Amino acid sequence: MSTTGSAASPVIDLHAHSAHSDGTQSAADLVLAASCAGVDVLGLTDHDVVDGWDAAAAQAARVGITVVPGVELSTQVAGMSVHLLAYLVDPWDRTLGAMMGTIRAHRTARLRRTVELLAADGYPVDYDEIVAWAGAGTTLGRPHVADALVRAGSFPDRDAVFETLLHSSSPYYVRHWAPSTSEAIGTVRSAGGVPVLAHPFAHRRGRVLTEADIDDLVDVGLCGLEVHHPDHDAEAVATAGSISARRGLVQTGASDYHGTGKSNRLAQCTTAPETLERLLGMGSGSPLLGSRG
Ligand code: AMP
Ligand code: ZN
Ligand code: FE
Ligand code: FE
Repeated sequence: MSTTGSAASPVIDLHAHSAHSDGTQSAADLVLAASCAGVDVLGLTDHDVVDGWDAAAAQAARVGITVVPGVELSTQVAGMSVHLLAYLVDPWDRTLGAMMGTIRAHRTARLRRTVELLAADGYPVDYDEIVAWAGAGTTLGRPHVADALVRAGSFPDRDAVFETLLHSSSPYYVRHWAPSTSEAIGTVRSAGGVPVLAHPFAHRRGRVLTEADIDDLVDVGLCGLEVHHPDHDAEAVATAGSISARRGLVQTGASDYHGTGKSNRLAQCTTAPETLERLLGMGSGSPLLGSRG
């Protein structure tokens, strides 16, 4: 493992998005940016898609860093949106592939509806324009709608659109179908992957799971919690840490970097090297990409 800069310990950031979902950089540019930011091990975790893995692998080999291949699955517990990180899954697993395809299809239909609602109230958004900007195959989400309103000059940045129009209690918020988190955990495990709950206590985004909910997910195979995340305050970190300790879960940390789409900085939160090794020992569906691949 490379140790760039003066860091004695490798810098490990296990959650980042490329333009295959709602990040603003190609997968290759994301890996390059990570390398420039001193990241040694980057988790590529686009929403519901693994299309960035190949380009990330090539770039990681070129710049000498390691990429942990992953995906952030859109799931739900009793209708509440829950993001599930899945590392080292077999990208060819048919059940997982079908699950991701179905989620993307529902996201597309949902985005169309969001745009209809906004356009009906006079907001300058057009579905075809948004899809053309996002590119074929991209997992569409609210950030793409936000970007359209920024392009139109209606808002300064994504954050402003989310605060005003796209937050989860807005009349313009449209829910989409997602598999239950427990079903997704089973699918990820069957695909050789390691399921880790993303930002489990990010209250700012809306309702969060209870400790009992998380216990149920551990019972069906959940392996870890993202303890350190930019949206976690000290209380969230403490709660996630204590559940992880009680249930023997892997405790990850990551930036959830989205390029210029969010203020999160690469390596803003990181994972301990021994935690990474433990996580790697739990997954068998895919090798690491790049310098350790
Ligand atoms: P969606 O998956 O379509 O419901 O959209 C959720 C995505 O929007 C997540 O990946 C978040 O990172 C992003 N998001 C949520 N809140 C904000 C915000 N205030 N500013 C920018 N992006 C956000
Ligand atoms: Zn996102
Ligand atoms: Fe997320
Ligand atoms: Fe994310």
